[in-house]
Amino acid sequence: AQSLPMDANTSPKPRPVDSMGAFVQPTPVATPQLLAASAKLCQSLQFDPRVLADPVFAPVLTGNTTFKGFRSYATNYGGHQFGNWAGQLGDGRAIVIAELRNAKGERQELQLKGAGLTPFSRFADGRAVLRSSVREYIASEAMHALGVPTSRALWLASTGDSVVRDRYYDGHPEPEPGAVVCRVAPSWIRFGHFELPAARGDTALVRQLADFCIAKDFPHLQSHRDENRYGDWFREICERTARMIAHWQAVGFVHGVMNTDNMSVLGLTIDYGPFGFMDRFDSQWTPNTTDHAQRRYRYAQQPAVGFWNLQRLAMALGSLFLDPEPLREGLMHYQHLFVAEDLRMQSAKLGLTSYPKDVVQGFAELLQAQALDFRLAYLALQFNGDLAETSYLERPDQAAINLWLADYRVARASHAAPFAHNSRLLPHNWLLQELIESTEQATAQSRQASDLHLYLQAMDTPTTTRYPSHWGQMRPDWASERRGCTDLSCSS
Ligand code: AMP
Ligand code: MG
Ligand code: MG
Repeated sequence: AQSLPMDANTSPKPRPVDSMGAFVQPTPVATPQLLAASAKLCQSLQFDPRVLADPVFAPVLTGNTTFKGFRSYATNYGGHQFGNWAGQLGDGRAIVIAELRNAKGERQELQLKGAGLTPFSRFADGRAVLRSSVREYIASEAMHALGVPTSRALWLASTGDSVVRDRYYDGHPEPEPGAVVCRVAPSWIRFGHFELPAARGDTALVRQLADFCIAKDFPHLQSHRDENRYGDWFREICERTARMIAHWQAVGFVHGVMNTDNMSVLGLTIDYGPFGFMDRFDSQWTPNTTDHAQRRYRYAQQPAVGFWNLQRLAMALGSLFLDPEPLREGLMHYQHLFVAEDLRMQSAKLGLTSYPKDVVQGFAELLQAQALDFRLAYLALQFNGDLAETSYLERPDQAAINLWLADYRVARASHAAPFAHNSRLLPHNWLLQELIESTEQATAQSRQASDLHLYLQAMDTPTTTRYPSHWGQMRPDWASERRGCTDLSCSS
């Protein structure tokens, strides 16, 4: 490199380095301001939620100040994006600012997303817009409330800086308000963390990272015999991934970007981008417009993509195994467990035990053919509502509905179970868009984001009816034409 003519001023960005991570400080922003905080998560981390709202704490919200005694860092990972190996690509904008341990010994890592450049930012700015941050904040907390394994969000703060993404006005790029989410997980290790050193042929680093991950996040496997430990670990990753994706299918969550860099080895839902909760049922739906040609990450495909991603992880871990049989066994386990969990959860949504497979399958067909609302159709069954009224068709086929209902009543007579996984309120993209717009306005006028708070409260209180009634109804007509209301792009 020394023999090449170098211009020291060409780029202010640090350059990517060949390692697992780097110590890096967040870059300060103009005016950090708290928009929302999770009191419940504070309590489980064992500190007083009032701390977050104290003006003295404001600089910490966006990384203008960091905690004494903790060296903040960003990690480096690669991944397969839309089926292709993309090399090193993350983490260009998420910085870990603390690791906490509560009295029960549970560890949590606090990560600021949008905290500025890191050595891994490549061509990007290290920032996040308010729009995407509101989406991640609400969706991850909603998924947690639904019982889906997920990362959490501790706080959401505006930065007072503007960020340019893909929003245009009159053909000109229009700056948007910036924000930072403090997101929380016991660990942020992804499939892509193993794929990167494996692709570089650094098998020693793969092993070091695997040992680190087991010691930190799978301590119960530490005592397993050496020759079994990695196999048991992979099997558990497969198991957690199967359970997570069965949960996604049950609540109608479409992740939108199931690249291997967005897959947590803990089986947590992470990296909320162009995701969506299904309203009108369509097994081919993906909210991600970047994927509309191929629809690789559509609803119906998520279980198979989970498998494909686990295969990529298995390849990356190959050097840990003399005999690859445990990897094959783990993958098989994923397939069997997913099928069982999926049937169990889809049945529970119908208030049935797992046995009547044909009734569950019949309902999936009915949902699709009659374009039923995925949330409201189950509520109609649970509360004796009219199924036909949850259809987006002008004239749903009442005879087809009645035919299935007859089978369903028979099944329910012999296989009744408590209804589960159904929710009155889900953060559909049109609803999120409404909350984004009101939060942007409130922020611009230095007001409280009251709609956002109302939603968060309603989300945490399943029995409440204290919210605008249209939030709980079918997708409004205006949503299909308006940008961001059903489909979104990757850019955030
Ligand atoms: P995603 O497709 O959103 O998961 O993004 C892939 C990777 O791109 C992330 O892991 C980030 O490290 C990086 N990235 C995305 N947006 C930015 C940004 N604005 N600045 C820096 N890095 C980014
Ligand atoms: Mg990502
Ligand atoms: Mg993203």
